[in-house]
Amino acid sequence: MAAVDTLVLASGNAGKLREFKQLLSPLGFDVRPQADFGVNEVEETGLTFVENALLKAREASLISGLPALADDSGLEVDALHGAPGIYSARYGGEPKSDEKNNQMLLEALSGCAEGQRSGRYWCVLVYLRHPKDPVPIIVQRSWEGEILAHPRGNEGFGYDPLFWLPDQGMSVAELPSESKNRLSHRGRALQGLVELLQVAHG
Ligand code: IMP
Repeated sequence: MAAVDTLVLASGNAGKLREFKQLLSPLGFDVRPQADFGVNEVEETGLTFVENALLKAREASLISGLPALADDSGLEVDALHGAPGIYSARYGGEPKSDEKNNQMLLEALSGCAEGQRSGRYWCVLVYLRHPKDPVPIIVQRSWEGEILAHPRGNEGFGYDPLFWLPDQGMSVAELPSESKNRLSHRGRALQGLVELLQVAHG
């Protein structure tokens, strides 16, 4: 693959940077955070994950002069009609924090019985070769689970202590990071992206 060696990750989230590095470094990519290039966070004004990912990737590519990869992700809970959705990062209000988000989620589902707490993580990845790339590569993947009534585990980030995986018999925060990278919405979206990059670049 005629891979681009350096790509800028349009995110300031340390947890995501760690996961992307773990997944892309073995393929020869040097994943650099956008802060290295003075890219600030853009306002996420889109109404879908894909719109927000495009906004972030375009800004990062424009400022850095490099190909850019953005992800937009979040949690969709059926009993909450899809919330927190695109607002997952700031569900508990500003300044945003995982702790406030998780607290808000527990409160919103407080009357919700076991068996009715289904949901899924979504990850949308957008890769732009340059800021005016008319053919972005877009990959979307989900990861099914249930929302716990009490947090479990210390790994991962965000809603992971509350996201129960029936297949694994544990929460995502109890799952080793290697397993999370293989199974997760983000890990599988990234695997899909790599396949498309290999096709696009021969
Ligand atoms: P983004 O940074 O705008 O994509 O917001 C994503 C938000 O969704 C994060 O801040 C988390 O709250 C949540 N989220 C997305 N992926 C994960 C994950 O793998 N684990 C836990 N929370 C996640």
